Amino acid sequence: MSCYLIEELLPLYIEGDTSVETNKIVAEHLQSCESCRKLYLEMKELITLIQTPHLMPYIDEKEEKRKFEKRYYGKLIYRASIMFGVGYVMMIILYWLI
Ligand SMILES: [Zn+2]
Repeated sequence: MSCYLIEELLPLYIEGDTSVETNKIVAEHLQSCESCRKLYLEMKELITLIQTPHLMPYIDEKEEKRKFEKRYYGKLIYRASIMFGVGYVMMIILYWLI
């Protein structure tokens, strides 16, 4: 299982929306992969904060959350732009082939 797929599954995994089989695969990957484990811990913390608002301390934690969100969504935008670029190149290639 690649890190890319694990990253996609992590939010679902943390919220318990994944199947038993998937949980096993993710858990095994997390044990062997440090970067995914780090991401998992960060995401878990954030999701726990969101799900328990009364536990959310102010200012510092909020700042942390904002930073995390910025990084997380920044990554998504980056990924989307790569996909867009790939799609564009493929369209050009198809155009020349047909
Ligand atoms: Zn990984």
